[in-house]
Amino acid sequence: MQTDYLESSFLGSKEAARSMPKEVLPDEGMNPDTAETLVNHIRLNEAKADQNLATFCTTQMEPQADRLMLGSLETNAIDKSEYPKTTAMENYTISMVAHMWNIGEGKKLFQDFIGTSTVGSSEGCMLGGLALLHSWKHRAKAAGLDIDNLHEHKPNLVIMSAFQVVWEKFCTYWNVEMREVPMDENHMSLNTDTVMDYVDENTIGIVGIQGITYTGRVDDIQKLDELVSEYNQTAKLPIKIHVDAAFGGFFAPFVDGFKPWDFRLKNVASINVSGHKYGMVYPGIGWIVWRENTEDYLPAEMRFSVPYLGSSVDSIAINFSHSGAHIVAQYYNMIRFGREGFTAIMNNVRSVSQRINQELKDLGIFEIINDGSQLPINCWKIADNVELTWNLYDLEDKLKEYGWQVPAYPLPVSLEDVTISRIVVRPSMTMAICDDFIEDLTRAIDDLNRNHLIHHAS
Ligand SMILES: *Cc1c(COP(=O)(O)O)cnc(C)c1O
Repeated sequence: MQTDYLESSFLGSKEAARSMPKEVLPDEGMNPDTAETLVNHIRLNEAKADQNLATFCTTQMEPQADRLMLGSLETNAIDKSEYPKTTAMENYTISMVAHMWNIGEGKKLFQDFIGTSTVGSSEGCMLGGLALLHSWKHRAKAAGLDIDNLHEHKPNLVIMSAFQVVWEKFCTYWNVEMREVPMDENHMSLNTDTVMDYVDENTIGIVGIQGITYTGRVDDIQKLDELVSEYNQTAKLPIKIHVDAAFGGFFAPFVDGFKPWDFRLKNVASINVSGHKYGMVYPGIGWIVWRENTEDYLPAEMRFSVPYLGSSVDSIAINFSHSGAHIVAQYYNMIRFGREGFTAIMNNVRSVSQRINQELKDLGIFEIINDGSQLPINCWKIADNVELTWNLYDLEDKLKEYGWQVPAYPLPVSLEDVTISRIVVRPSMTMAICDDFIEDLTRAIDDLNRNHLIHHAS
């Protein structure tokens, strides 16, 4: 029998000597402090955020933001009648994001353009794609196409082949044909020589990617916009562009080196971004903006109004209830950093990415796929003329021994024989962390090379 004094000691408790419940809800509960300790024990091995160079997602916010989030975790973002001030912050942020993407001076939310917060870019892409699909249906019907005849008029979406998986989900869920413009050695982003060959009257739109997940490159959306303008002059059904700027959308506005990619281009209908990537909020937030608040951009059937939360509440999002904490945190970041702050942070990120690029080049065995001069993503492969007894998967494993996560993976269709490694430089990767990484990278490569010698000497 357990005595009272032991109850205050976790180490002496019966729970400390038990495995965790894993399959069925346990019959008995436990003291909250014990439960907290145990949950923290389970999480011991996953909290090395600064060494995770694989993720795009924010792992560090300021304590002030943490406090704001803790204080608003219980709010429900979609309940606009109960939380009108969270809604106000959502709207202020949509407006700031739209202007950051050059929606046009003096343009006003709702009056001129429209947008919403989302759970992340996936929901943003889904909404952007659906708006293209539904507005195509209206145009196609008006032009006399029998859109119920899927044999002849199955809608299609044109995108380069290194898309993020959400676009595959979009096409599968909504029965849209995905037309992939393949990558090749000379076209690591959208091939603008061939993209228009994929377009026909059933094309709902083209996706431009301002930050390709696989390689960190950007599509030439300016060129794409020209091609679309030219096409639309004579097309039976004019098309529009959706820009997937999941990680570029909060980076490109603040640093040099990008061609116009946003609402400066007239065929860009909508843009999405993840607030939890370079928007520097913890996972669970994204944004989408449509250039005009009109039927043609966001058809009526995508705008819902629900009466049962008090006053009538408008909803565009696919997801319904979720915490308002992320909206509060995003708004905090907007006013806390301002343009100047975002610019300083993103330029630091770029310096780190360029330093890594220099080190990778100096090693003399890699060919650089993305050099960090635009988006801060470092990608490389083993140079064709270099003979090694290890590959990038071995390097991934070796770096793991030092605690670093640096994934190796094959490129998508038509370049699947090419294996690359990728580092996502996030704002939390300071130069000090970068120095540490470089040291370990050098050691890991030495280890791999030496292992080989020992192996052969024996
Ligand atoms: C990360 C990413 C997504 C998905 O974003 P989530 O915010 O994780 O849902 C979509 N597109 C691109 C290009 C991405 O990099």
